[in-house]
Amino acid sequence: MSDSGSKKDWGKQPHRLIDLEEAWEQIARIVRPLPTCEVDVRQAFGRVLAEPIVANDDFPPFDKSMMDGFAVRSVDCAVCNARLTIAGLAAAGGSVTQQITAGSAVRINTGAPLPPGTDAVVRIEDAQISSDGSSVTIGVAATTGMNVSRRGAHVRQRDIVLAPPLKIEAPQIAVMAANGLTSVRVYPEVTVGVVTTGNELVPPGTPRGPGQIFESNGPMLGALMRQFGAQLHDCGVARDDPQELRERLSMALRHPIAVASGGMSMGTLDLVPEVFTDLGVEWKFHGVQVRPGKPIAYGVGPDGQHVFGLPGNPVSAYVCSWLFVRMAVRGLMGHAVLPPHRWRASLNREMKATRDARPAFVPARVWNDDQRGMVADPCGWGGSGDPFGQALANALIVRENPTEAAAVGCHVNVIFISTDP
Ligand code: AMP
Ligand code: MG
Repeated sequence: MSDSGSKKDWGKQPHRLIDLEEAWEQIARIVRPLPTCEVDVRQAFGRVLAEPIVANDDFPPFDKSMMDGFAVRSVDCAVCNARLTIAGLAAAGGSVTQQITAGSAVRINTGAPLPPGTDAVVRIEDAQISSDGSSVTIGVAATTGMNVSRRGAHVRQRDIVLAPPLKIEAPQIAVMAANGLTSVRVYPEVTVGVVTTGNELVPPGTPRGPGQIFESNGPMLGALMRQFGAQLHDCGVARDDPQELRERLSMALRHPIAVASGGMSMGTLDLVPEVFTDLGVEWKFHGVQVRPGKPIAYGVGPDGQHVFGLPGNPVSAYVCSWLFVRMAVRGLMGHAVLPPHRWRASLNREMKATRDARPAFVPARVWNDDQRGMVADPCGWGGSGDPFGQALANALIVRENPTEAAAVGCHVNVIFISTDP
């Protein structure tokens, strides 16, 4: 451990817990993005852009009609009811090359290039075609540029249209395709090796004996890593046995992020910190002033792996993943290495003072109320061992100082843990 001596300190003597801010700073100081790679634009959803995208052309690349109607010379239609000869049709995907002369109009469809000589489009709704189809009466006064999207109106050739780092979603994919690109340089998908630990754990689907519980952190972390944009590699459940832990934790260390759940605390069988240390992990911190999640640890593996020891309690594991693992996942993926964004809401229900001064993260439901704006209601939950209250939440209320009661209506910070309201 960098700040408190030997690997076996934890649990054997009083331990200096670091502040949350200090823990975040430690992670931010170390995490850097993975080397970039090239992917097909269609496969780029969710990746982070690693290079500026420069416009290959003006956009639109030609003066383009924004309406179905008639392309005209605006000078011919300065006043209402001009009668013009229909000189042809300009459809999207084609081009009219002949110069349009005075007194003529060209039937045009949305997306078609303006025929040379024309400078405005009159909507079909404002045009009256003669019964023999040879001429059209324009029911409005036209002005130059009317219903025309000019070449380069949106973007000029060589403009930077997307700047890294930027999460690629549907609109960014549209921009890359509109720019004619088939592949793009991005940061790669991050894989996370996860080992869950505990003699008491049995996988769902197998018989459960006395004193045993079903293993739920592994499936939960699999879903959470997907939510963070990473992929979990299941390195299995290890019993609290040094040899078995060594085998499974070594498997997890094959990934840029290695996570162990459980076995991080002060129990006699909490062996994860020392086994990781024997495998070459240098701990940066072990123990943070946070509730839930005090025994959280972060270190760096022999090949630069980011190693997290999560507390085994399901809500602690969940909250610590949000607070710490997510930062590393996103940092490796090319995002800024930051803790989760906090939004402001007003409390819907009083939160009583607690004796524990650690900043607390409380499962809550947050919604937008017509009168009160964003409102947060703490979920009923039984503490860090109770995953059921957590499952009702779409946010975490951040209580910076839980020794002070928080009254109804007062402002609290919240972290959204679900994008669905
Ligand atoms: P530990 O951190 O190993 O001391 O575990 C703390 C509590 O979390 C104990 O009650 C464990 O049974 C429980 N726990 C640990 N790992 C898991 C897991 N993977 N799934 C569900 N509960 C767990
Ligand atoms: Mg355990």
